[in-house]
Amino acid sequence: MKFLKFKNSNEQVPIGKLVCVGRNYAAHAKELGNEVPEFPVIFLKAASNVIYSGQSVIHPKYSNNLHHEVELVLYIGETIKNANDDEAENAIYGYAVGLDMTLRDLQFEFMKKGDPWTLSKSFDTSAVLSDFILKKDYKLKGNENISLSVNGTIRQNSSLKNMLFPPSKIVKYVSEKMTLEKGDLIFTGTPEGVGRVVVGDKIFAQIENIGSLETTIAE
Ligand code: MG
Repeated sequence: MKFLKFKNSNEQVPIGKLVCVGRNYAAHAKELGNEVPEFPVIFLKAASNVIYSGQSVIHPKYSNNLHHEVELVLYIGETIKNANDDEAENAIYGYAVGLDMTLRDLQFEFMKKGDPWTLSKSFDTSAVLSDFILKKDYKLKGNENISLSVNGTIRQNSSLKNMLFPPSKIVKYVSEKMTLEKGDLIFTGTPEGVGRVVVGDKIFAQIENIGSLETTIAE
């Protein structure tokens, strides 16, 4: 079982489900040749996929195209179902920086066949997290910078204001489809600039005022 790590709290919260949004930045949807969606595209990762900043991403041998995706991650702090706007916002207790590591070659094969993406998104070490900052310690403005570099070169650099669906809208939408519980995490999608990493590469990702993480790609 994996637990959340907080900046200013020692509370022990087991990680629940990882709900992820695809295509939440128009420029990223376009770079992969996808339409901008009318509703959020939703998929899941397993809690056992999580590692924390400082640990290594293990490159699966069955892929030749491991991609980085930096994302704002929401920490759901209470049970909600069919939330209205206020309930959705109030259920977000904190924020972190996350990496939604993706096997792009497998994802494109699955999409072509009409199969689920699961194995391209959910594998050991595919979800990297920074410590979580609690909302009571920082109120998200929604225009924070989000960026990622590989070996010191900036690859992704955008603003949270470019999200098509802001955090409360995502939480509201997901809560209409499945109950959200304390310890569930929501990965809110990545801006443009995703790309390949190989064994030995060092990733540094950060979101202004939220935090940062670093990881190395290992065999
Ligand atoms: Mg993603």
